[in-house]
Amino acid sequence: MKVGILGGGQLGMMLAEAAEQLAIETLVLDPKPDAVAGRVTRHLAADWGDATALDALAACDVVTYEFENVPSETVERLVARVPVHPSPRSLVVSGDRLREKTLFRELGIETASFAVVDDRAGLDRAIAEVGLPAVLKTRRFGYDGKGQAVLRSAADVEPAWQALGSQALILEGFVDFDREVSVGAARGRDGRTVFWPATENVHVDGILHLSRAPAEQVSQALFARAVEGLEAVMANLDYVGVLVVEFFQQGEHLIANEMACRVHNSTHWTIEGAATSQFENQIRAVAGLPLGSTATPRPAAMVNLVGELRDLSPLDGERDVFVHVYGKSPEPGRKLGHVTILADTRAELEARIAKVLAVVGDRAAGG
Ligand code: AMP
Repeated sequence: MKVGILGGGQLGMMLAEAAEQLAIETLVLDPKPDAVAGRVTRHLAADWGDATALDALAACDVVTYEFENVPSETVERLVARVPVHPSPRSLVVSGDRLREKTLFRELGIETASFAVVDDRAGLDRAIAEVGLPAVLKTRRFGYDGKGQAVLRSAADVEPAWQALGSQALILEGFVDFDREVSVGAARGRDGRTVFWPATENVHVDGILHLSRAPAEQVSQALFARAVEGLEAVMANLDYVGVLVVEFFQQGEHLIANEMACRVHNSTHWTIEGAATSQFENQIRAVAGLPLGSTATPRPAAMVNLVGELRDLSPLDGERDVFVHVYGKSPEPGRKLGHVTILADTRAELEARIAKVLAVVGDRAAGG
């Protein structure tokens, strides 16, 4: 069994590592010569349209992706020759905030109010419909808070239009959320699905900082509704693989913000924290193997290492603390690694999180 992976960042690297544990070979395509997945598996450093690279991928048993902005022509050329999971339509939908939110709505999943913005007059119409405050976002290629602007008052409208108006846009109502939560699932080729517990996420400057699981404030009833929503999305998209949906929680409401049709940063804690990680279940799903248990016996947390790496040696040998460094060169805002933290109780988890943040730097506190 050989799995081709489109994209060779840290997600591709962790997928390749999980595959190796299952004695499954991987092959990664990523145009960047220094893509970190190349440290653990065979990496084709070629353009997305390179014929030789596509031949090599088409010779795999199945192709999946860790990067959602793979050009659609690449996917189309592969689909004609080899099974690609998750379905290419998943990429098309998740790659466009308008299609994504429209699908959520069609499937009865709550979203913020939203309106499409095609031109400057359309922005005024959207503001009249959605109201202020609102968030103006590019429909495509936004990530980690990039490609968006918060409109708090009329004075913010023109500068936001100047910054983003050259692209296709969507305006969303601003959600005054209690917290951000994500839910990860895996769906096998046989349609069977498994879910990890909900994860609570703290972002700083639009980039994930800290995750805790299970999310304590998500009631069983609320989680059950999220599960129904994800199942509807996966059935609609004929989905095979890991899907993670990010929500805003407001009381007993989960308001869907966006979905990732791939493994996701907020679910990295599953490597040590769950019986089967998101990476292993992604490989299992696309390879047609039975999915592993998502049992999560202990509270878990994950801290991202962003922008710079401090001296991490104080964490050496620390019980229930697992450091992952991806081997990427430091750059402001770049995800360089993560630390998983496990504990027996919530209080112990919080104490260990504080200890880890003191070593790696607490972005939430400006450090
Ligand atoms: P996104 O790129 O959609 O994940 O947005 C990045 C971050 O911006 C989110 O994690 C939220 O913290 C914030 N955000 C995005 N959309 C909204 C919204 N409609 N209301 C309030 N905050 C938002």
